[in-house]
Amino acid sequence: MSESKGVWVFSENYDLTLELLGKGWEIADKLQTELVAVFAGYDVQEKADEMVRYGADKVYLIDNPALESFQAEAYLSVLHDLAANYKPEIMLIGSTRNGKPLAARLATRLKTGCTPDCRRLSVDENGRLIGERITYGGNAVAKIASRTKPQIATVPARAFGKPEPQDRNGQVIKLDVKIEEPKTEIVETKPLETSGVKIEEAEVIISCGRGLEKKDDKALLEELGKVLGGQVGCSRPLAEDRKWFTEWVGLSGHKVKPKLYVACGISGVIQHVAGIRDAKTIVAINKDPEAPIFEVADYGVVGDLYEILPALTEALKKHLQ
Ligand SMILES: Cc1cc2nc3c(=O)[nH]c(=O)nc-3n(C[C@H](O)[C@H](O)[C@H](O)COP(=O)(O)OP(=O)(O)OC[C@H]3O[C@@H](n4cnc5c(N)ncnc54)[C@H](O)[C@@H]3O)c2cc1C
Repeated sequence: MSESKGVWVFSENYDLTLELLGKGWEIADKLQTELVAVFAGYDVQEKADEMVRYGADKVYLIDNPALESFQAEAYLSVLHDLAANYKPEIMLIGSTRNGKPLAARLATRLKTGCTPDCRRLSVDENGRLIGERITYGGNAVAKIASRTKPQIATVPARAFGKPEPQDRNGQVIKLDVKIEEPKTEIVETKPLETSGVKIEEAEVIISCGRGLEKKDDKALLEELGKVLGGQVGCSRPLAEDRKWFTEWVGLSGHKVKPKLYVACGISGVIQHVAGIRDAKTIVAINKDPEAPIFEVADYGVVGDLYEILPALTEALKKHLQ
């Protein structure tokens, strides 16, 4: 497999593709190889040109009506065909709901490994890709290298920043690929109904845990959220057990990366903390001074959230007036 070359990136999510291009560029530069974006879709030439500005040396463009919406078999056949022909050394695939199973199926077809959900990527002294992912319920970070090529890793959104676009040259190469007939048919698609910004994209998150006694008390967090321009989030029991929310933050929920995360009445066990590691500033409000959340918090308030939250909201309102 010594003829393998190039770092390839692919995601059906355009923004994530740009993030992958940023990280992919660093890796390709270290390995002195080319950076390739695979772009499959319908009527997407313009975006393909833009990918060059975000770092791609080449864009393999597969523009076909059969790829207008995401169908796993169709996308799998495209990636498999290209990878089998051009033999990339590394493939970074967006860790989305569609991307994760796609990467796993692709790895199976190519008889290679796949490291899922890498939040860090590097290259070791032997030029191997090292993917780092959280494991054992958030208690450890596993560093994984692949023995086979292509080395496939999936990468979640916002693990790496988007690069700045630049004036640079690259090639957009239109390819004709035989697309496998999907075994399933999309009957209907409709957008998910969400209120406001998605939690994983919020810059400020006010989160509550089992310290919150009643569902209506969410209003305390919403008030503070209004003042700081933030979203309300929660720990898993408030969504899974109490059903006060539909989504939660943590290892099995959303991994968030806000500028400010305020944890109110959350103990801060490892499964929750695994989702907030990348928050820039963590503020904890908890009445138990021994709560583990204080170990990861930048600022801590030992006290009752029912007293602290209204006082904090009032003080901030006055301060920001
Ligand atoms: C495989 C697995 C995956 C998991 N994934 C996740 C995940 O993704 N996200 C997640 O959150 N959990 C997850 N969990 C659950 C996790 O282990 C904890 O049970 C959960 O995070 C605890 O939630 P909590 O902090 O809200 O509740 P608790 O641990 O009960 O903590 C409540 C805290 O509130 C404080 N408190 C109580 N009253 C007040 C008050 N009036 N004012 C101030 N503080 C107060 C208490 O001192 C306490 O520290 C997972 C568990 C497993 C096994």
